[in-house]
Amino acid sequence: MNFIFLGPPGSGKGTQAKQVCKEVGILHLSTGDLLREAVKNETALGKKAKAYMDAGDLVPDGLIVGMIEDKLKAGELDGGFILDGFPRTLPQAEALKMMLVKNSKTIDKAILLDVSDDEVIKRLSGRFYCSTCNAGYNYPARMPKQEGVCDNDGTKLLRRPDDEEEVVRNRLDVYKKQTEPIIDFYERESFLARVEAEGTIDSIFQKLLTVIRESD
Ligand code: AMP
Repeated sequence: MNFIFLGPPGSGKGTQAKQVCKEVGILHLSTGDLLREAVKNETALGKKAKAYMDAGDLVPDGLIVGMIEDKLKAGELDGGFILDGFPRTLPQAEALKMMLVKNSKTIDKAILLDVSDDEVIKRLSGRFYCSTCNAGYNYPARMPKQEGVCDNDGTKLLRRPDDEEEVVRNRLDVYKKQTEPIIDFYERESFLARVEAEGTIDSIFQKLLTVIRESD
């Protein structure tokens, strides 16, 4: 079971990919999470990526493709996966296609989580996360039990620096210019599925599970 989740920032890719992977027992691979971890640990990759991420720009393709290639070579994707946040440009989509062929793997479906710009801005301005366990929260859709504190470990919740309004606008712009063209790419490859991703987290989760089970 190999899937790609596509969609603008704030479309719920991360939240849904995490839940779906847990439900069906495959790996959740988020390039954004890997990069944030690299920035936090001040690795060579993290140092190169930080300025791009803070501005809401894309990290250069070579760095990202190398990261995925390492995972493929190490066999980490052998049990099935959802790619969340990758590919994000046409060269990344082309590179993924080649890497998969080389590793005798195929994608079952690229699933587009469709949401409007207004909804994206509303969601990102209410988004918080736990820096200890990485759990995500959203006001008002998914509130912590105690205001401002993670349910799992009591850590104070933070906002991602790239969720500030000005950066969000740039991220949306970058999405439209650099990432939207890959929707056509997967449509041409005939394995794109669109899921209307406004509504409750659970209703969208159910729709995604249906698409995934039908594609298996
Ligand atoms: P995300 O958590 O997916 O919204 O990613 C956060 C940030 O990490 C993005 O705004 C980019 O700066 C960077 N990033 C994540 N995935 C990619 C990718 N596939 N290509 C380039 N930059 C990426």
